[in-house]
Amino acid sequence: MRLLVVEDEPDLLRGLARALRDEGYAVDTAEDGEDGLFKAESVNYDAIVLDVMLPRLDGWEVLRRLRAKKKTPVLLLTARDRSADRVRGLDTGADDYLVKPFDLPELLARLRALIRRSAREVRSVIEIGDVTVDIAARIVSQMKKSVVLTAREYALVEYLALHRGEVVTRTALYEHLFDESDDTLSNLLDVHVSNVRKKLGHDFIVTRRGHGYSIEA
Ligand code: CA
Repeated sequence: MRLLVVEDEPDLLRGLARALRDEGYAVDTAEDGEDGLFKAESVNYDAIVLDVMLPRLDGWEVLRRLRAKKKTPVLLLTARDRSADRVRGLDTGADDYLVKPFDLPELLARLRALIRRSAREVRSVIEIGDVTVDIAARIVSQMKKSVVLTAREYALVEYLALHRGEVVTRTALYEHLFDESDDTLSNLLDVHVSNVRKKLGHDFIVTRRGHGYSIEA
């Protein structure tokens, strides 16, 4: 999953990006509203964390312009616990909001819920044959035994599991698994796919020649 964090306080931005990468997300960052809007329009993020008080364009304006084009889930960070701000945020098209200062576990839980909702996934545990993907706990198990995956392998499995039954193109996987700070070789995706197959069985991920990959529903 690839996220965009738009936040002008450098310490908070750095801390958030680090915490989200530790959770296995690919993370892009922007320090003002203009850059944030540009990135939000250029890349299909799985979710955006958007601060309201931003230089150049404030969060409201970023959201308003983004919503004219895209439905990317947006979690708004509001500075004050003012109900007028919350109402305005939800009316402008925010999917959820958090009041600063917030607890990191709550932000993570809300992001997972947003991503699940946008994939129209109601439950946080997905079963595919004998494999179970627990999105809340970020644990993959097979026949009730947990399987150790790297962060990127997990991200690959989670993305395909949330889109199970669909063919996911290589382009979409590159867009959702890697961020702007990654300078990966073009064959790295295949390495992750191959490693996941070694761990979960060759047929767990199906190659669709010329199209991409899929996990059967
Ligand atoms: Ca701010």
